[in-house]
Amino acid sequence: MKLIFEKSKKGHSVSVLPPLDVPAVQLSASQKRESALRLPELSETEISRHYKELVDQVYGVNNGFYPLGSCTMKYNPRIDEEVASMPGFTGIHPLAPASATAGCRKVMEEAGRLLGEISGMDAMTFQPAAGAHGEFTGVMLIKQYHDARGDQKRNKIIVPDSAHGTNPATAAMCGYEVINIDSDEKGCVDLASLKAVLGEDTAGLMLTNPNTVGLFDPNILEITRLVHEAGGLCYYDGANLNAIMGRVRPGDMGFDCVHMNLHKTFATPHGGGGPGAGAVGCKAFLKEYLPGSALMKDGAPIQVRSFAGNFLVVLRALAYILYLGKEGIPEACETALLNANYLMKGLREVFTPAYDRLCMHEFVLDLSDYKKETGVSALDVAKGLIDHGIHPPTMYFPLIVHEALMLEPTETEGRETLDQVVEIFKAVKQQGMDDPESLHTAPHKTPIGRPDDVAASRNPILKAEL
Ligand SMILES: *Cc1c(COP(=O)(O)O)cnc(C)c1O
Repeated sequence: MKLIFEKSKKGHSVSVLPPLDVPAVQLSASQKRESALRLPELSETEISRHYKELVDQVYGVNNGFYPLGSCTMKYNPRIDEEVASMPGFTGIHPLAPASATAGCRKVMEEAGRLLGEISGMDAMTFQPAAGAHGEFTGVMLIKQYHDARGDQKRNKIIVPDSAHGTNPATAAMCGYEVINIDSDEKGCVDLASLKAVLGEDTAGLMLTNPNTVGLFDPNILEITRLVHEAGGLCYYDGANLNAIMGRVRPGDMGFDCVHMNLHKTFATPHGGGGPGAGAVGCKAFLKEYLPGSALMKDGAPIQVRSFAGNFLVVLRALAYILYLGKEGIPEACETALLNANYLMKGLREVFTPAYDRLCMHEFVLDLSDYKKETGVSALDVAKGLIDHGIHPPTMYFPLIVHEALMLEPTETEGRETLDQVVEIFKAVKQQGMDDPESLHTAPHKTPIGRPDDVAASRNPILKAEL
């Protein structure tokens, strides 16, 4: 499609400026532009059609199935958007006097209390702007805790090989050495490997449970006990809380701090690039190190982000929790699990599950055998699905499964959709057997087919040359 500047035609315009109702002011020469501002010239109809054309190129949960694993791409109740667009909340300035912000502070207090209840934590900060930022904040709590006790020798963070890439990155950014441990054949933490690396230099463990292959680790209490026994602390990556909310709490599993992606589980649409919020909760003994509470050497409070963080994301989370309530939260969790297991059962007839046992909110397919037989890769299948009108699953993650496709249907999909999805997977599988070339070159129905991912990320062209 054409850029709005390419559609521009001299003289087409919309006059929107109201008549001047204040005294005119002459600008000094230094305040004036040297050349006229270049704006596209279009009529109102043309502008409206341009944006509609853009909208039509976007794929979201409102278009169809979006099973991007480890991302919780669910439909969010519209009431959350309605609440988050109320002028009393959107019009507030972070420097407004306390007397004008009582309502906003109440929102954060309530959201903190309810998310604390859901995660089993005693205190909460909403400053971090994303999951990875929350991890950074949480691991800094662990660091401050050891530092305050003069326990300087703890310089290692243990991370299982199934972890989300942000976990080892976070530990490294906080100055820790990252110790990787293996998963056992069931996809869970290998206890012998864990015991072998625990010691006086263990600062902590970072873990997702259920992990990134969608499996709940039955040894979780033993895992957190072993880490504590060695003097380390336990960090829970709660980016996706759909799998446990209202049923199981990280705090009860033995974790000391946690982050939750409010932009995954708690109603802020995810995938558009932000804003998000990585709420960080901790047990009472870590509370004094939370941003806002902890002080720097000069006495100023430690901040990991300006002001109170992305407030409207917190507001949506509160609206969502109150809307679902004590019954709705566990019901959403159970439905997410039911949907994932239902879909896994359907797809088991098509491709091989990486771990063929009851899953939690997501599961991973392993297409290695299919690739050997047909030459068609997980990437080709993912691209082929696009031509059938659905969004591809997450690919090649976690790294412990080769040719991985990771699906997370979420609780907001109905049974008919899941049945249709199985049919689509069957059709794509068959297509790969009959005509592998058509999948090597898929998708065929999108504006662009296969961009060079590496070039696009290393050398993004974000500005049109006109
Ligand atoms: C999404 C995710 C993260 C990172 O969250 P961001 O908001 O993208 O920084 C961390 N861990 C897991 C398991 C995730 O799924």
